[in-house]
Amino acid sequence: MLGYSPEDLSGKGCIVCSLAHPDEQKEVKKLWKRFIGGTKDAFHHEFRIRHKNGSHIHVSIHLSAVAGSTKALGVIVGRSSRENLNNALIELGTRYKSLFHNEVFGIIRAEANSGKIAEFNRKAFDLIGPEGLGSFDQLAGLLFQQEKETLVREFYEKGLIASRDVALKGKGHKDQPERWAIVSMEMSGDRRHILIYITDIHEIKNSLLETTKINHDLENFVYHASHDLRSPLKSIVGLVSILKMENDPSARLNCIEMIEGSIIRLERLVNDLLTLSRTSAIDDPLSTVNLMIELSNSVANLYHTADARNLEVIPIIYQPYPLVTDVTRIRIILNNLLSNAFKYRSFEKDASFVRIEARVQREKATIIIEDNGIGIPEEKRDKVFDMFYRASESGEGSGLGLYIVKKAVEKMKGSISLDSEVTVGSKFTIEVPNHWDGVWR
Ligand code: ADP
Repeated sequence: MLGYSPEDLSGKGCIVCSLAHPDEQKEVKKLWKRFIGGTKDAFHHEFRIRHKNGSHIHVSIHLSAVAGSTKALGVIVGRSSRENLNNALIELGTRYKSLFHNEVFGIIRAEANSGKIAEFNRKAFDLIGPEGLGSFDQLAGLLFQQEKETLVREFYEKGLIASRDVALKGKGHKDQPERWAIVSMEMSGDRRHILIYITDIHEIKNSLLETTKINHDLENFVYHASHDLRSPLKSIVGLVSILKMENDPSARLNCIEMIEGSIIRLERLVNDLLTLSRTSAIDDPLSTVNLMIELSNSVANLYHTADARNLEVIPIIYQPYPLVTDVTRIRIILNNLLSNAFKYRSFEKDASFVRIEARVQREKATIIIEDNGIGIPEEKRDKVFDMFYRASESGEGSGLGLYIVKKAVEKMKGSISLDSEVTVGSKFTIEVPNHWDGVWR
């Protein structure tokens, strides 16, 4: 069993002691001494002993003194197979544990008869929350909602529910009221347990939904962009043919002015489209932004292009910290919101104003642009951020400005909100993160 021949061992003294594993040698020697010294008439010990090939194997040695002689009789029992079995069981247990406590999918085991939840892992708890883990019935209700009855019946008939898409609602994910997951259930071979596996596919499903939305937006975009590009072109073509036939100088001038108007509309649309593609695609490096300078530049540009007569611009800038952000996107946001505040002012009012408030904190900057212009009717307020949406009849704009602003704010991981009342005015509030690292440079 140990690989030694009798010659290997003869004359080697106490082989039990010399072959014992170094860690156990002391104990073996102590027991051996007691046995040899006659204090004990049997030697019984379990320890590791060196095989001829150098490895150590577990043995159980039992020696008994033979009465009236200096000899002892004994048995050596190898424990390797028992050890192996134990080790294999331990290994299996470890593997089961690491599989059970994985980070990727939730596992729940319920008792088939009582419906009691016997065990669940952390991921299952995070996905389901405590209220879904009271019993199998509660769990099925949370997973399958209206389809619960049908699916549970199907499960008991077939012993299996394979890969069902579900939208989870529960306290385990308070911050997101719905979480997408795939659920599979199977009955154990002895029909004593129900095993439920839940795979969290929230991120994947969301990006799929996002892609579908992008495709839809793209179709919408192509449709509107081509329509909006075509209509001024069409009117230019029509006006040019009139111009060719017209001899009256004032009518000709009128035609030319209308052509000019169409060209300006076209140019505006092309500019907006370029800004949109820029804000969606390009991430400029972050830089320190002086809001006072940026606002002054935006307002100065608008004074040249918009009707700024009798319009008061009130800036309130509070910038005790540097604002580190994407300056191109800040410019896009300011230009669009300010140009709208100028564009949609109310000429019926004696005094128009645009109030700009900017506050920079360590973690974020808040910019509020408020006007006392024509305002936006309640039913149109949600739509003004949509692509190509115009809420007013003037037809001056492309309907892209606020969509561009929303895209820029989203890219900066900020937020935008709107308060508005018809004839009273509108207020846009923007919050963007400040990426300042706290070091004054
Ligand atoms: P547009 O190019 O038409 O200005 P926007 O996307 O910038 O497109 O705005 C969408 C619509 O929201 C506008 O057509 C306008 O009716 C309304 N709107 C935007 N800003 C204001 C504002 N400050 N006051 C009143 N209406 C506004």
